Amino acid sequence: MERFPRVQQIVDQLGQLTVSEQEQLYRELRPWVSGIKVQVEQQMGLQEIRDARFSQGLHCVRCGSLAIKRNGRFQDEQGHLKQRYLCKTCGRTFNDLTGTPLAYSKKQWM
Ligand SMILES: [Zn+2]
Repeated sequence: MERFPRVQQIVDQLGQLTVSEQEQLYRELRPWVSGIKVQVEQQMGLQEIRDARFSQGLHCVRCGSLAIKRNGRFQDEQGHLKQRYLCKTCGRTFNDLTGTPLAYSKKQWM
């Protein structure tokens, strides 16, 4: 991973902080860190999320059934083409992101 000198400088100084200073730093950083986490997840890409979720085979995210069929594609708000699936057991449809944290982080997607 690329190391940025300015970041490295800050990291070097972290070791010199007192416990109280570390606590303040943590409070200051917390809102930033949660934003960064979303960006990193976004960079991981949908394919990796899809692979991770369905590595055990395609299954229904609602009832766990393996009786799934592809049910067409659709465009999300960002214009990305996504696969939609239909569960033959419970009849619900879902997509690659249904039930993952990314499905609820639309506001922070640019
Ligand atoms: Zn189902």
